[in-house]
Amino acid sequence: MITVRVPAKVNVQLGVGGLRADGFHDLANVFFAVALGDRVTATAAAPGAGVTLTCAGPDADQVPLDESNLAARAARLLAAHHGVAADVHLHIDKSIPVAGGMAGGSADGAAALVACDALWDLATPQAVLLDLAAELGSDVPFALLGGVALGRGRGELLEELPVAGSFHWVFAVAEGGLSTPAVFRECDRLREEAGTGSGVDRVPTPDPSAALLAALAGGDPVALAAAVGNDLQAAALSLRPALADCLDAGLAAGALAALVSGSGPTCAFLAKDAAGAEAVAAALTASGTCRAAHATHGPVPGARVIAGAAPGAD
Ligand code: ATP
Repeated sequence: MITVRVPAKVNVQLGVGGLRADGFHDLANVFFAVALGDRVTATAAAPGAGVTLTCAGPDADQVPLDESNLAARAARLLAAHHGVAADVHLHIDKSIPVAGGMAGGSADGAAALVACDALWDLATPQAVLLDLAAELGSDVPFALLGGVALGRGRGELLEELPVAGSFHWVFAVAEGGLSTPAVFRECDRLREEAGTGSGVDRVPTPDPSAALLAALAGGDPVALAAAVGNDLQAAALSLRPALADCLDAGLAAGALAALVSGSGPTCAFLAKDAAGAEAVAAALTASGTCRAAHATHGPVPGARVIAGAAPGAD
């Protein structure tokens, strides 16, 4: 049995370029891994059993347990790559909000790659795991890597970024999720409505913010707060106007910055320190503007084995 811990992400910068002919957008995407995360446990199964799944946690009823689950797809992809049988039981202990803009499904995919690799004793090189992760989805490679990284292309071309110290965050979980493709469509629609256009011919390719990269490298939360930005925020707020109340409540409670996490509807708040994060989380919980609020920190590493042993190791 192998257990892997995997982080959720917040995009401290999410610059969205124009809509490409292939339906994707070019992104300047600065991923930041936070300690709020899922655990995926892989248990050996009898030959012919296939991939089976269970899930526990507050959002477990919203997680598909069929072959569309990213953890199951990851196990099958890894097994096919090595020509081994995909016989495994995967249990997802889910803390990352589902459809919350924190890449929870992608995290479980990355965790399943690492867990099955250890369980089946495959010793897959990290570069190959990253390629398999990119096949599963744009956000999966970052969940393997963790830390802080710049994602270009549709987000899957990753470059690790230097970061000093630890930053303190609060995540306010909303009632219900938002579909990522729907939020991108709304972003395009708002751009058309504003007359700026939504295609690659009209929207410049986004670049990472120099001020943001300097704030991360310097470990300066005040400078980071001034530099964070999310081009999907207007679209998420357009689809879910009540999120503005949550953002305002966090700022009123002393957060240095408030932004929608990725495609939302989770809201992210940067705090001065750990005590500040606890105070913002308590105020958000009391405000009634969210379902729950969690104080956490980052950056943290990507998907890592935390318990278990390879077959035969005992
Ligand atoms: P992102 O930030 O990468 O756009 P998200 O955090 O908004 O994603 P997810 O939690 O990854 O959203 O879920 C999006 C959809 O993916 C869910 O509604 C669900 O149908 C599907 N899904 C597949 N596998 C999983 C999984 N292991 N956990 C959660 N959702 C999953």
